[in-house]
Amino acid sequence: MTNPKTSPVAESVVEQMARAIVRTYRFKLKPTRAQHSRLREALEHSRQLYNAALEERIDCYRKTGKGRSYFDQTAAMTELRQSEGSPWAWSMESAPLKALDLAYRAFFKRGGFPRFKGRDWFKSIGWNDQIGWKFDGAFDAKGLGSIRVHQHRAVPSRPRVARVKREGRHWYLYLVCKSEALPANDNGTATGLDLGLASFAALADGTLIPNSRFGRKASGDLRRKQRALARCKKGSARRNKVRERVAQAHASVRRARRTFHFQTASDLVRRYALIAVENLNIKGLARSRLARDVNDAAWGQFIQILSDKAESAGRRVVKVDPRGTSQTCPACGAVKAKDLKERVHSCLCGFTADRDVAAAQVILHRAVHGPAEAKTTGCGASSPRRAVA
Ligand SMILES: [Zn+2]
Repeated sequence: MTNPKTSPVAESVVEQMARAIVRTYRFKLKPTRAQHSRLREALEHSRQLYNAALEERIDCYRKTGKGRSYFDQTAAMTELRQSEGSPWAWSMESAPLKALDLAYRAFFKRGGFPRFKGRDWFKSIGWNDQIGWKFDGAFDAKGLGSIRVHQHRAVPSRPRVARVKREGRHWYLYLVCKSEALPANDNGTATGLDLGLASFAALADGTLIPNSRFGRKASGDLRRKQRALARCKKGSARRNKVRERVAQAHASVRRARRTFHFQTASDLVRRYALIAVENLNIKGLARSRLARDVNDAAWGQFIQILSDKAESAGRRVVKVDPRGTSQTCPACGAVKAKDLKERVHSCLCGFTADRDVAAAQVILHRAVHGPAEAKTTGCGASSPRRAVA
C-alpha cells in the first residue's frame, strides 16, 4: 500500500475539502390530526396544479401549435395569486410546474410523454426558496401552520430548501443546509469495499460485513404482505387496507436499511482515511443478470451516505472502474473468469482468498494505482498482496 498522502488520488482531497458542502437533513414530522389532513390537502393541491398545467400545455399546443413554457405558466400563476390570493407559499405552488417542466425536458430528450398524475402519485411538496416557511425547531409553512419536528440532530445553518414527503403513514421533513467541510483527516489507512449479495460487503483486509438481520426480517414481512395483496380482489375495500399495509412494510424495510447503512458508513469512516468503492453508474454494463435493481438502488444509497459521512469527517471515498474486479487476481493481476457460484478466488500464482475479499483488494488497488497498472503489474510487485496459501 502506498501512502495516500503522496499518491495522486490523495492530492485532490485538498481541493475537495476546500469547498463548502451541501447536505440534506431528514427529520420526522409530528403533525396534529388537523395538520395531517392539511398536508394531504397540500399534496392534492400540488397534484391538481400539475395536472392542470399539463392539460394547459396540451391544449395550447393543439390550438396554436406552440407550447407553454415554465416561465409562461409561473407568470400566469403569479397573476392569479395577485388577483385571488392563495393560502399556500409561492414556491410550494411553483414546484409542480417545475416538475412538469422537467418531465417535458426529459420527454424531448428521451421520449416518454408526461402523464396525468393519479391520486397516489404525488408524495412530496417542496419549497425551493426561503420565502413562506421557516424552521426553528418546528416547521412553519404558509398554509400548514407550525408542525412539530422530531429533531434528533442539529442543523449547521439556516436551511435553504425544504421538502415534506409522505412515506407510508408518516411525514418527513427534508432540509437542505450548507456547512463547512472539515480539513482532511488522514490517518494513513485505506481499504477497498466490495458490495455483494452473499454478505453486504467485503473489505480488503478480509473482514466480511454481514447483511443486516433486521433488514431481512422486515423484507420477509413485506413479502408476506405482498402475497396477501395479490390474493385480494381488485377494487375491494379489503385490498385498499392491505395495500396500505404493504406501503407501511415498504417504509419499514427502507428505514431498517437506512439505519444499517448509516451505522456501517460511520464505522468505516471512523476506521479508514480512504475507502475505495466501485463506480456503480457504469456497473450495469459489466454485470450479470443475477444482481437485481433493488441491490443497485440500495448500494447507490449506501455509497451516497458513505460519501457524505466521509466528506464531513475529512475522509475520502474513491470510485473506481468496476469492470472485471471479481475476475482479476489482486496478487498478480492475472484475469481469471469465475462464475457466481465460485466463492473462492484461487490463482495459479498461489494466491487464495474469499472471492469478494479478493475483489475488494482489486478495488483498493485501482483506487491507488489506476486500473491499467493492475493488469500489467507482475506477481510480487507493489500490489496489495495478502496471505499466500
Ligand atoms: Zn495471481
